[in-house]
Amino acid sequence: MIDLHTHSFFSDGELVPSELIRRAVAIGYKAIAITDHVDSSNIDLVVPRVVKAIRKIKDYIPIEAIPGAEITHVPPQLIPDLVKEARNLGAKIVVVHGETIVEPVAPGTNRAAIEADADILAHPGLISEEDLLYAKEKGVTLEITARKGHSLSNGYVAKEAVRFGVPLCINTDAHSPSDLITRDLARLILLASGIERNRIESIFLHSEALIEKTHGRD
Ligand SMILES: [Zn+2]
Ligand SMILES: [Zn+2]
Repeated sequence: MIDLHTHSFFSDGELVPSELIRRAVAIGYKAIAITDHVDSSNIDLVVPRVVKAIRKIKDYIPIEAIPGAEITHVPPQLIPDLVKEARNLGAKIVVVHGETIVEPVAPGTNRAAIEADADILAHPGLISEEDLLYAKEKGVTLEITARKGHSLSNGYVAKEAVRFGVPLCINTDAHSPSDLITRDLARLILLASGIERNRIESIFLHSEALIEKTHGRD
């Protein structure tokens, strides 16, 4: 399993990065990104701490751990600068908390995330046709999520992403250890979202490609 959207104790997750990573090892992960919620108040506090934790342990763990950030509920106008700031602070995977149907995310957030070249637009809800086309053009990855609530629109996201040729990944948005999933469950979630069997492998491969892209940012 490659999981590019999880939360540690540095936002609203339950575990410090070391334990979150250890739990991921135990369940058979190959790679995990820690992408805590950030806005202007905490981005300079959270990202460097996660970067540091991963730098310290990376030689002693059997999986790849990647520092990231999830820009969450900020006005869309602020998203581009925060994406840049997250990258400058060492975030290798930048996620934007998209327009999920279960939270009052500001309209225009999906658009701003794509415009800003975020790596992953998480749980984009009922993303519009224009934004799907724009995501394809910019190569921004949309997320199928294992998270309760946000996953209500997985079927729509899967159908539209396939229709428009937008890349997909599957992440857990884990906040506690019990939210981490096996690759087998990830596969079932993708199938349940309406993804055809013959496309599943390419979605897993795309997550690997996203990790490759982070290596170019070392
Ligand atoms: Zn959260
Ligand atoms: Zn999240």
